[in-house]
Amino acid sequence: MTGTNTFRIALFPGDGIGAEITEPTRALLDAVAARTGGFSLDWSPCEAGAGCYLAHGSALPRTAIDTARASDAILLAAMGLPDVRYADGREMTPQIDLRFEFGLYAGVRPVKPVPGVRAVLADPRAHDIDYVVVRESIEGLFAPAAPGTRDGDREARETMVITRPVCEKLFDFAFRLAEERGGLRKVTSVDKANVFQAFAFWRDIFYERAGRFEGIAADHAYVDAFAMTMVQKPWEIDVAVTENMFGDILSDLGAALMGGMGYAPSADIGDDHAVFQPCHGSAPDIAGKGLANPTAMILSGAMMLDWLGARHDSVEAVRAASALRRAVEAAFADGRLVTCELGGTAGTEAVFAAVEAALARVDA
Ligand code: ATP
Repeated sequence: MTGTNTFRIALFPGDGIGAEITEPTRALLDAVAARTGGFSLDWSPCEAGAGCYLAHGSALPRTAIDTARASDAILLAAMGLPDVRYADGREMTPQIDLRFEFGLYAGVRPVKPVPGVRAVLADPRAHDIDYVVVRESIEGLFAPAAPGTRDGDREARETMVITRPVCEKLFDFAFRLAEERGGLRKVTSVDKANVFQAFAFWRDIFYERAGRFEGIAADHAYVDAFAMTMVQKPWEIDVAVTENMFGDILSDLGAALMGGMGYAPSADIGDDHAVFQPCHGSAPDIAGKGLANPTAMILSGAMMLDWLGARHDSVEAVRAASALRRAVEAAFADGRLVTCELGGTAGTEAVFAAVEAALARVDA
């Protein structure tokens, strides 16, 4: 933080639809800060992504990392393009590299449909869906310390890494989150402990840490069964904590249950830094057409304000986060704002305009 209440934000528009949703989100966040008072945002635009690689030969330049490190929070839109790849065929994923760089072990993926957005599940209890998937985000099957190997056209291998220090921090984070949420007060370990050593180890540590959190229930589910629970009775989930690759897959399922990728916000949180970004990628199929739904980006901005508020004791930032969320809910409440991804006509501009108008009406 600079001065009394100015939060420094590193802003990464990235690729594809990223740039289209970044500037209006920044304007909305500035507007809600001005409305609430008591804090302001000082933005540092940063270049990274596939376009940056083509222009400068690096997908995540050192200058961008340094700016991010010196900031109070990082807001990122979307990175990577399927046609821009390294020589070994992998896409560039600087958003994942930032997690390793800053030790952002806890990927927070709320699954909470916006009221008024057409429910994907027919069951009336679908209105009560409100849970969080906590995705371990720096090891598991993505662990950089154990990169995959390929032996010509004979075989290829990947290694899953589960370590005690990261597990302990991750599980404590998940249990604390269940305490703060004050909902069903339950954390579920989502794993595959019946087949893999690494997950048996994971689950042992999970129950060790569970013992430290009185009043919060702990249970477990195999990832395949849990995928069914997410569709058949998601209202029974509170906080689910899972491995990196499983979390990658389950968060897209969660996004689908909210109406699509354009509705799902996220945060990647470490001890000293945090990145906030929508769950979706750069969506090159709709880039440049004005069709991108910016709701996930706006809600990620609200998560950022919440985190900054809690970390820096700023009640105003927490109030601003709440106002922004209520503005999003008000914009969709009557069911008439139907985004393109759900077959409607509301594109990027229409959603921003509706949220901006609603923001002027909500208490801040
Ligand atoms: P990545 O691997 O980079 O996370 P992905 O494979 O999950 O990306 P996305 O870019 O998220 O792919 O897009 C998946 C689908 O969802 C695409 O059809 C895309 O058009 C759609 N989509 C993604 N984001 C949005 C959005 N904000 N608004 C509307 N549709 C979106």
